[in-house]
Amino acid sequence: MQDVNDRAIDRLRDRIRGDVIRPGDPTYDEARSVHNGLIDRSPTLIVRPRDAADVSTAVTFAGSAGLPVAIKGGGHSVAGHGTCDDGLLVDLSLMRGVKVDPRARTARVEGGALLGDVDIATQEHGLATPSGQVAATGIAGLTLTGGFGAMQRKYGLTCDNLLSAELVTADGRLVTASAAENEELFWALRGGGGNFGVVTTFEFRLYELGPMVAGGIVGYPIDQATEVLEFLNGFIATAPEELSADAIFMMAPPIDDIVPQELRGQNMLGVFLRYCGPPDDGLEVVRPVREFGEPMLDFVGPIPYLTIQSLLDQLNPRGGLNYWTGEYIPDLDAKAIELLTQHGSNLPTRQSVIQVIPFNGAPTRVASDATAFSHREDSWLVHYLGQWEDPADTERCREWIRSAGGDLRAMGTGDVYLNLVTDEEDVDRVRAVWDDRRLSRLAAVKAEYDPDNLFRFNHNITPATT
Ligand SMILES: Cc1cc2nc3c(=O)[nH]c(=O)nc-3n(C[C@H](O)[C@H](O)[C@H](O)COP(=O)(O)OP(=O)(O)OC[C@H]3O[C@@H](n4cnc5c(N)ncnc54)[C@H](O)[C@@H]3O)c2cc1C
Repeated sequence: MQDVNDRAIDRLRDRIRGDVIRPGDPTYDEARSVHNGLIDRSPTLIVRPRDAADVSTAVTFAGSAGLPVAIKGGGHSVAGHGTCDDGLLVDLSLMRGVKVDPRARTARVEGGALLGDVDIATQEHGLATPSGQVAATGIAGLTLTGGFGAMQRKYGLTCDNLLSAELVTADGRLVTASAAENEELFWALRGGGGNFGVVTTFEFRLYELGPMVAGGIVGYPIDQATEVLEFLNGFIATAPEELSADAIFMMAPPIDDIVPQELRGQNMLGVFLRYCGPPDDGLEVVRPVREFGEPMLDFVGPIPYLTIQSLLDQLNPRGGLNYWTGEYIPDLDAKAIELLTQHGSNLPTRQSVIQVIPFNGAPTRVASDATAFSHREDSWLVHYLGQWEDPADTERCREWIRSAGGDLRAMGTGDVYLNLVTDEEDVDRVRAVWDDRRLSRLAAVKAEYDPDNLFRFNHNITPATT
């Protein structure tokens, strides 16, 4: 790495409309921080661009200074890919604009927008695009590596609803990718992560939804978990695709107005329901879940889409310590249910959860080679989310996820959801997500747009050599 001297940084400052932040500056610590409190990295320089021109200036500067580039969208990568040591961090937190075209039912979304920014702007027009479950998550990282959430069974993953993207590539050019322009790059962006440049604008397809939907949580005591999972397995196979129904092993959380004081902290299995259609239809569809077994908690009803989209926010505070894995299992059969119930009854901390997500419907109807996102089989996505507050718990919690995740993996499809893995020690498994054909296609796109691997803080693809 070359030395970045004061004069060069002053010249950069003159050309950037946004902020240039150095170690020691008052905003440096906040700008380098990310969601996962385990990540503590120190970039050489941080640029907070205001627009694509600023991004281009920052990337060109980094290339000539020999600094690799990290990109912070929402900073929610648990692996810490939204920051770096010894590099230039492009922090997109000043680029969160969302412009909706209600007639065309599309939204143009800046690269630093959070899911909440997108939901709020689109709901003003009674529209929404499929995204994730926690409002503070960045739309960028989520989209570029997949994106599951409430609307997925009906409308597909977030990346399946991407219409085009504008990005600044390693040579500082602003390039558009869509089905009609730079098609191979567009293919790679839908699953290949932040390998190819800094996306400054995403364009998404929107659907009519809200402002009210039906949804909420039905919670069962942990000793009913086996029966509930067996029921859910059969129920979701025929339930309308408007419905999302994730099972979540958790300790009843302190969610105001939802979880009564006396239940908080009790081990339970929640079914998190969201119906993307008329609320009355939704309430009818979820009735069998509410009538099954003996729930300890039933918080289901008509609810604003914006509220259900941020219901889990308080369970995922910024700065919490996190270690995760996300595996696909082919079936929720008796063996899987036994294992999940065993792990779900033994969570390492009160903030940790296991989420069991039906992966079927629209995402599985997309052809496997249509996008770089590879997993298109009917299956269940199981998310082991280890979260804790006290650094003294770190080794114990990591070990718990590694060990329980290993048991889960033994019955998995071999595939992981890259957006959920803390992958540092398991690069081979990450690579295995892309089969040889897909990986060589990705490597060719990487070689075309980032031959020197300037963008390497991601699930990294080595540029092809000719
Ligand atoms: C609390 C929480 C809840 C979550 N819920 C869901 C969920 O419901 N569904 C789901 O699918 N996933 C979920 N995730 C996972 C999430 O999709 C990933 O963590 C994702 O990487 C977050 O994107 P980000 O922009 O916030 O991440 P960052 O940490 O900012 O970036 C992640 C990666 O994306 C790249 N990147 C970021 N912005 C850009 C850009 N503009 N252009 C190019 N590359 C960029 C970075 O280089 C990095 O490699 C959740 C994560 C957390 C922490």
